[in-house]
Amino acid sequence: MPRAKKPIAFRNTKRRDPKKASAQREAVLERDGFRCVALSVDGLRCWDTNPPRLQCAHLIRRRACGDAIYDPDVAVTLCELDHDILDHRAPIALWDSIVIPSEAIDRAEACVRRYEADRASRGLAVVPLKNREAVK
Ligand SMILES: [Zn+2]
Repeated sequence: MPRAKKPIAFRNTKRRDPKKASAQREAVLERDGFRCVALSVDGLRCWDTNPPRLQCAHLIRRRACGDAIYDPDVAVTLCELDHDILDHRAPIALWDSIVIPSEAIDRAEACVRRYEADRASRGLAVVPLKNREAVK
């Protein structure tokens, strides 16, 4: 097919498996007690417990997760606003207004390293990816 006629694939259609993604979301929300885990700079917890607004937010960029992308450990529960802030979709003035608990970031990084170590032990390539560090 000539390149110009080739349909443009919807973003993430290949990478994102809806069944695995919703299983991950359920596991993440349950682990976090159906509550946004974001903290204010004063260390106060966000009180949003409204399930329709709760989202599963990757702490390691999706493209940097490798095989760990659907593991509940790489994500946390965030409300819609805090997820927008974390991923910089919200106005820039808000970017520094939330803090993600460090144990969640450590858990996410450890999870990706675990998958990397597993791949390495099976003799599979471990591609050194940029931006492997947590979002915040
Ligand atoms: Zn929140």
